[in-house]
Amino acid sequence: MNNPSQNNASRSANIEDRKIIIAIDGYSSTGKSTIAKAIARKLNYLYVDTGAMYRAVTLFCIQNNLIDSAGKVSDKLKSMLGDINIEFRKNGEIADTYLNGCNVEKEIRSIEVANQVSIVSAIPEVRDLLVKQQQLIGKRKGVVMDGRDIGTVVFPDAELKIFMTAAPHIRADRRFSELKAKGSRVNRDEVQRNLEERDYIDTHREHSPLKQAADAVILDNSNMTPEEQVEWLYNKVKELGE
Ligand code: C5P
Repeated sequence: MNNPSQNNASRSANIEDRKIIIAIDGYSSTGKSTIAKAIARKLNYLYVDTGAMYRAVTLFCIQNNLIDSAGKVSDKLKSMLGDINIEFRKNGEIADTYLNGCNVEKEIRSIEVANQVSIVSAIPEVRDLLVKQQQLIGKRKGVVMDGRDIGTVVFPDAELKIFMTAAPHIRADRRFSELKAKGSRVNRDEVQRNLEERDYIDTHREHSPLKQAADAVILDNSNMTPEEQVEWLYNKVKELGE
């Protein structure tokens, strides 16, 4: 007689063995990375935070004075793109972002970088460069990648696409608490303004704007705990194996 729990176990083992691409897109501070990291751990997949890559390029611009006081990025950036080397290096359970050999994990999360990142990431040459790197990283599948254009541009054929959203005030509260916990002295209004501005620029830019892929599944996590979200996503993964 069939043992249903065995069937479930072998089904989820199958989907884990099959190695798919899970693309997670959505608005700023919807908790994409929390759920992406957790599901990657559960499936033994690689997690790639593409936002960190855009943030690292932005930090490079700040370090090299490539952004003027009006927020315009110098054309010089295009000829300097070859000087930017971004890596993820394992630091225990998590991976830190390195820019040209330096650990920049903390700096790229600063409000200064957050305030400029959407302008830098709207530059087509920056996107072309990073998209190519992301496609290379995900070539062997078994990857969970989060960002703004993963299901639409980077991996339009991803087996599972999730589009994450949550009420704006909830996102601002979450981001504010996160920054405060890290010792950052920002005020909540500034955080909310930054999220609104980034969402506006990300959804309105000409080159690969943030939008829901036609075949993406929406996850509104306004009233969900991280554990509930991971379970929800794990069920979606299992459904693919059925
Ligand atoms: O995900 P995170 O909030 O760290 O992303 C920071 C910014 O990087 C986004 O607001 C967006 O401007 C840009 N981004 C992007 N495409 C991605 C990931 C991030 O344009 N795939």
